[in-house]
Amino acid sequence: MTFDTPLVRSSLDEVADEAKDWRRTIHQYPELLFDLPKTAALVTEKLTEFGCDEIVGGIAKSGVVAVINGTKGRGRTIALRCDMDALPMAEQTNLQHASKVENMMHACGHDGHTAMLLATAKQLSANRDFAGKVVLIFQPAEEGGAGARVMIEEGVLERFGIDEVYGMHNQPGLDIGSFAIRSGPMMAAGDRFVVTINGKGGHAAYPHLSHDPVLAGAQVIVALQAIASRFTNPFDPVVVSVTYLEGGNPGALNVIPAAIRIGGTIRTMQTATREMVEQHFREVVANTARSFGSQAEIDWRPGYPVTVNDPVKARAAAKAATFAAGADNVDTDWPPTMGSEDFSYMLDKRPGAMIWLGNGNSADLHSPAYDFNDDAIVHGVRYWLTLVDQRLNDSAGE
Ligand SMILES: [Zn+2]
Ligand SMILES: [Zn+2]
Repeated sequence: MTFDTPLVRSSLDEVADEAKDWRRTIHQYPELLFDLPKTAALVTEKLTEFGCDEIVGGIAKSGVVAVINGTKGRGRTIALRCDMDALPMAEQTNLQHASKVENMMHACGHDGHTAMLLATAKQLSANRDFAGKVVLIFQPAEEGGAGARVMIEEGVLERFGIDEVYGMHNQPGLDIGSFAIRSGPMMAAGDRFVVTINGKGGHAAYPHLSHDPVLAGAQVIVALQAIASRFTNPFDPVVVSVTYLEGGNPGALNVIPAAIRIGGTIRTMQTATREMVEQHFREVVANTARSFGSQAEIDWRPGYPVTVNDPVKARAAAKAATFAAGADNVDTDWPPTMGSEDFSYMLDKRPGAMIWLGNGNSADLHSPAYDFNDDAIVHGVRYWLTLVDQRLNDSAGE
């Protein structure tokens, strides 16, 4: 059962149908990172057509921000954010609207996120029955470029006076018309590392004259697993994965190399744990390498922070989803995932919440067989409109 709100008076079928066409157009021309000329042009063209009050492009290169003022006077300013970028991979769906660009694909559904936010902009521009204002953020470079952070660095939160931020991502495996959310940490921090282990090369027949970095590296890899199993609380998830190993020469198997290199990623769900794990990592790597006569050079590459939903705003988001989709279709205790998301930078600066939108029984995110499910569009748009209505109309307090 769903309910009507002042902003969701009429059927959304028509705008959802239009959004499906926009989504499929965006899907055919995927673009990467900060370089999204076609996508940003389509977004800007639509926002202009809808008559948004302010449209600013070129934020974080391809980012676009639109402002829609309500007609009920002053109030708070909430931001609805979507991501627009695709992935550098080859699509294998054979769909009619499949990517026309080699080795680029919308495999994370950001095409759908963009289309839903455009549809929301269209509805809100036509019916501004709310107080305060809505800021729509179309963000580049979620996939590895920290586009959200760059938009923040370019002043997007202050410039538009944003009080609260909300995000939405599709979720394969979650039914169409369903939502899932949780309070607190929702997605992990994802840091990466490359370690060079410098020993002393030499003849493999006389190992005592060398400092073997291969043996040192092997010990480091094993010792790193002790971080998750011995140093941290089992109820506080930590993943340490060594995914890269390079050294020596298969054409010179009687030579101990002078150096080897290992790399990988570390996932954590709490900011304090993240800092503690980094410190343990540095100690374990340096001390283990040293005990085998080698020196470790650590290149620590910080990734996205933990995505943390503000408890009050997560409740507000769940309330909007419940109103839009019915209580039976909203899971408010969805388990956290070890993936990471750059909306975390915005949640770091402003209270807000990120919600999962059901993508049905589709292939997984980042799979070459994945496609955003157009049947989800109407539900996503209804959620956005209900959220605006509740945050900028009837909701008192919080
Ligand atoms: Zn992704
Ligand atoms: Zn994504």
